[in-house]
Amino acid sequence: MKIAVLSGKGGTGKTTVATNLAYALHTSGKTIQLLDTDAEEPNSHIFFDVKYDYEESVQILLPVVDRNLCTHCQECAKACEFSAITVSSKYIMIFDNLCHGCGVCSMVCPVKAISEKPKDIGTIKLGITEEGIIFGEGIMNIGEPSPVRIIRQLKKHIDPNVDIVILDSPPGTSCPVIETINGTDFALLVTEPTPFGLHDLKLAIDATREFDIPIGVVLNRYDGSYKKIEEYLEKEDIPLLMTIPYDINIARDYSNGFLISKTQNYAQKFIDLFQRIEVIKKC
Ligand code: SF4
Ligand code: SF4
Repeated sequence: MKIAVLSGKGGTGKTTVATNLAYALHTSGKTIQLLDTDAEEPNSHIFFDVKYDYEESVQILLPVVDRNLCTHCQECAKACEFSAITVSSKYIMIFDNLCHGCGVCSMVCPVKAISEKPKDIGTIKLGITEEGIIFGEGIMNIGEPSPVRIIRQLKKHIDPNVDIVILDSPPGTSCPVIETINGTDFALLVTEPTPFGLHDLKLAIDATREFDIPIGVVLNRYDGSYKKIEEYLEKEDIPLLMTIPYDINIARDYSNGFLISKTQNYAQKFIDLFQRIEVIKKC
């Protein structure tokens, strides 16, 4: 089963859930692969001692214009969704840092003036944690516009032989999140009991509903004082699968890079969370 751990916004505890779920399920005897697809800021590795044994670069193809052939027709600039090309009657400019390497400009050029050159945009690193969890992460180079290619390439390393793959997604609801969810079996959304948490949870649920996969929610920093998320989930018939209390000890362990499944006997709670996911998946 492939579980995407998502959140509508950063700082809700998504990585806490992804890493603790991976560790807890590993202790229960399952084979686990944990992939950190938050390539702009991967931090799952902080909670483990990872021995990396493989690294590969991620490249996109950047357009290069042969100015002797270019007729300044502007077809490439009109076709570029990312406004990465500007053409006037005298010049043509390509903004590498806006280019997503989609190749459309070279396809539409009527005089074949555009060729392509490879550019490194990031790295995939694979390894294994000291416990035996298969681990992978994508790391985007600073200044690149999009980690989507990195996520796509990282997901090619999904191990078909493990019991459970957990993907620690980027926050938000944009293309990198959609790329992470694509092909997974369950969307586990992590939020916090605040108006901002509710607002972003709704956006994340809307994005997830584009895919035909079941959804469940984990409510982090729960103190029972803000009920609107539970009311919303009940109205939308979305299961609340786990609450993690608002607790200074949990916050302290997180900021020290410790797993609460190890330090605070939370492993069984995360195993119970997975059992609820399994039940929903079978329905
Ligand atoms: S490769 Fe795509 S994103 Fe880059 S300049 Fe061409 S059309 Fe625009
Ligand atoms: S489509 Fe080709 S010919 Fe037209 S402006 Fe772009 S590079 Fe030049």
